[in-house]
Amino acid sequence: MTTAAAYALSASDGAFEKVTIERRDLGPRDVLIDIKYAGICHSDIHTARNEWGGTKYPVVPGHEIAGLVAAVGSEVSKYQVGDRVGVGCMVNSCGKCGPCLANEEQFCNRGATMTYNTQVDPAVQADGYTMGGYSTQIVVTEHFVVGIPEGIGLDQAAPLLCAGVTLFSPLRHWNAGPGKKVAIIGMGGLGHVGVKIAAALGAEVTVLSHSLSKQEDGKLFGASHYYATSDRQTFRELRGKFDLILNTVSADLPIDDYLKLLNLDGTLVILGLPENPMAIKPFTIAGYRRSLAGSMIGGIAQTQEMLNFCAQHGIGAEIEVISADEIDGAYDRVVASDVRYRFVIDVSTM
Ligand code: NAP
Ligand code: ZN
Ligand code: ZN
Repeated sequence: MTTAAAYALSASDGAFEKVTIERRDLGPRDVLIDIKYAGICHSDIHTARNEWGGTKYPVVPGHEIAGLVAAVGSEVSKYQVGDRVGVGCMVNSCGKCGPCLANEEQFCNRGATMTYNTQVDPAVQADGYTMGGYSTQIVVTEHFVVGIPEGIGLDQAAPLLCAGVTLFSPLRHWNAGPGKKVAIIGMGGLGHVGVKIAAALGAEVTVLSHSLSKQEDGKLFGASHYYATSDRQTFRELRGKFDLILNTVSADLPIDDYLKLLNLDGTLVILGLPENPMAIKPFTIAGYRRSLAGSMIGGIAQTQEMLNFCAQHGIGAEIEVISADEIDGAYDRVVASDVRYRFVIDVSTM
């Protein structure tokens, strides 16, 4: 076992504390990573505060991990000591089922092993639950490690491991590109990366934000249009306009109002994951043959493709780097939508 420093929460209303955790011995296919940066995703907050239920405490969140390879097992062929690497939301899956064989490990029929808060054999993680990236080191089987291309700083790359692929995957699946009108609801951690990627894919991008306060940034990230959803006129003006709408909002939304903004055969994809059900009117979705869909991160091969795409197009996340003792305050600011646009923990401060 290797010991690592980590920041853990021991109750939903607690504060983060520095702890020591154990990482398993290197197996033949394992990679030991010295974590340099860990992004703070809103899913970390939903989990840490037990908003989805089922959180096992103490929890060490973090699934936007960027660092350097510190050691490799005897059969590892993809990586060498010193390589720049990342780990996203998953650290294992069965490898044999249909979705795994189709490179969609996130939909593994046996349930993918998520980077934190997933029950595992105590031989894998001493406490019986995976522990995430708010930590100095992690051991991950090589298939679930991706390479971070030169040209993206590790700090700006970290958020791409979840936010980047969560937007890249549906943009690819629903063929965002030239001639397509794409709207992104919410310009936070996920949304701002989505604007950059959708614009780089050649789509005409519109941001639907709850205010106009980030309008200038939206244009810099590549959006052609920017509307405030607090203004009812937005919904009248944009009715029937979009081929694809990606909803990244972490809170409850009147989703039926947004469905009406889809054109014929348009699709609204749910990415944001608040805990409450949503109401839709059958007439809204029947009209214009609209679709309501969802998407969950992306597979490992697609995560690598996304990183290569971002490096090629000069895309990184816009970040605010914090020290490990600032996580609690950062969580409050994310919930208040007061972040430009992702907090990233500098792990050297642990
Ligand atoms: P975030 O940085 O907090 O961004 C969410 C954005 O939603 C905010 O910036 C804000 O954008 C908007 N928003 C927040 N509260 C709102 C409210 N009350 N009314 C209207 N708009 C509001 O969060 P994130 O890290 O991007 O994550 C967003 C959601 O996606 C979370 O629920 C997270 O769990 C989920 N997620 C899902 C996946 C997946 O695979 N499906 C992956 C990662 C995360 P504006 O200020 O522009 O309005
Ligand atoms: Zn995430
Ligand atoms: Zn599987």
